[in-house]
Amino acid sequence: MNGLSVTSISGILWLSVTFSPCLAAQTWQQHEKHEGFELFSETLVDSQEIVRELSDVRRELDGLLQLGHGNQNVEVVIFSSNNSYRNYLSAQLPEAVRRRAVFYKSGQTFQIYTFRHAELAVDLRHEYTHALLHQTLPFVPLWIDEGLAEFMEERPEQRAKSSRQSSMKWRCRTGWKPSLKQLEQIPSASAMTQDHYRDSWAWISFLASESAATRTLLRTYLQAISAGEAPGSFSEWVQSRDPEVINRVGSYFRRIRISLR
Ligand SMILES: [Zn+2]
Repeated sequence: MNGLSVTSISGILWLSVTFSPCLAAQTWQQHEKHEGFELFSETLVDSQEIVRELSDVRRELDGLLQLGHGNQNVEVVIFSSNNSYRNYLSAQLPEAVRRRAVFYKSGQTFQIYTFRHAELAVDLRHEYTHALLHQTLPFVPLWIDEGLAEFMEERPEQRAKSSRQSSMKWRCRTGWKPSLKQLEQIPSASAMTQDHYRDSWAWISFLASESAATRTLLRTYLQAISAGEAPGSFSEWVQSRDPEVINRVGSYFRRIRISLR
């Protein structure tokens, strides 16, 4: 999202302490099992819409990356309000309360915590992308993890008229381009700034959209990680395959046509 405030940035948490909340012990208004996830909600939500959004994310990522499926259950927990979310998480996941939604992974536990708010579908699409990536990859480079999650926030039909598309086009008009090397040096999720989220989105958006060749690069790189290889940084890995790709990101955004409809 453009103009993210600190409180709305969603993120990933891995904790060294064991946090295994017993979701079944809580009284949930809605508890449903669906393909690929299990929903626990403190308030009645449109679960069919959530099923649609998350199925679309899964289908699109499958097509784009072809990494196969993890078989772990993803627990999607929706609280009725920000207060309720904070009350539940403040003791166990204090890092989460500054955020609107969070993906939590510990061993084979995959959970998404959020609360009912206007951007719920967007945040669920973001966090579910993290869950799917971490189910199939032993590690995910940070810029790819956040870049894909940001990219998947919007449905495909929304992307051509997205405001972040036009602001990136505007930014690139003088020759500036998002620096992949800089993104690859971010030490941890907590060090990510709004500009890092924006540039990670831009890089993924470029790779996923420019051509079949750039999609193949992204897919092949992640499939190498999935196979247990250590391909090194993407910027170095790509040198022997398509060294010009590093420079094309700026011209890609300068060239794109912004749909006004
Ligand atoms: Zn994220």
